[in-house]
Amino acid sequence: PLNPPVLEVRNLSVAYGKVEALTRANLRVGEGQIVTVIGPNGAGKSTMLSAIIGLLRSHGQVCFDGRVAVSPEVERMVDGGMSLVPEKRELFGEMSVEDNLLLGAFHRYRSGERNYREPMAQVFALFPRLQERRRQRAATLSGGERQMLAIGRALMGKPRLLMLDEPSLGLAPLITREIFRIVADLRSTGVSILLVEQNARAALAVADYAYVLETGSVVMEGPAARLRHDPRVLDTYLGLG
Ligand code: ATP
Repeated sequence: PLNPPVLEVRNLSVAYGKVEALTRANLRVGEGQIVTVIGPNGAGKSTMLSAIIGLLRSHGQVCFDGRVAVSPEVERMVDGGMSLVPEKRELFGEMSVEDNLLLGAFHRYRSGERNYREPMAQVFALFPRLQERRRQRAATLSGGERQMLAIGRALMGKPRLLMLDEPSLGLAPLITREIFRIVADLRSTGVSILLVEQNARAALAVADYAYVLETGSVVMEGPAARLRHDPRVLDTYLGLG
């Protein structure tokens, strides 16, 4: 039961030199839905996100919002409404929380939009902790707060598609739960989400649809509720026999 796709990836391949890291991957994200890509370390999950947004050259097609791109260009994809929260967060440690957020709206500012108060108010409503700490340097935030800031910064651009690369990486279970609760809340704002995770349990609990990526290939897909009970997924990714 997939909504009309906001993103459709067809036969996407990426190679680092002679080594192929992604092989003819197909994937769809329905409008307003949360789609997850799970899989082990090194499966090619980050590579897939980088290729979709145009940070890496690729073969295949990326159809975003009705437009088809072959090896997309990152500026166009971002201007078109795609946003990536990278695994390493990539915050500016010496800048304040507020200034990091403002940077997330920069490309909209460049294209004539001047209203950053409204998206900032929305981000603060979602993450009250960031509002309390808005004058604090990003480097002094806790791990969970840094992830909140990275997501908040991405939301400042009012994306149609938000891509999250391992938001739970390095976070304690309690904070992970909080981040996933927020991801679930985001769905009600209408943004579509592509969530890459090694934490299969948390990802499958929040997602509508899921793909399993292994050594660069999609080996399984289906509604998240079904994959959660699939014996192969249980065995390999959920640590149950
Ligand atoms: P992780 O969760 O560990 O990041 P992943 O599923 O995101 O795993 P990728 O980071 O996409 O996996 O890596 C896929 C494969 O491509 C791995 O074998 C990795 O070593 C390789 N790889 C990634 N980046 C590069 C690079 N810049 N140059 C060469 N090989 C790379």
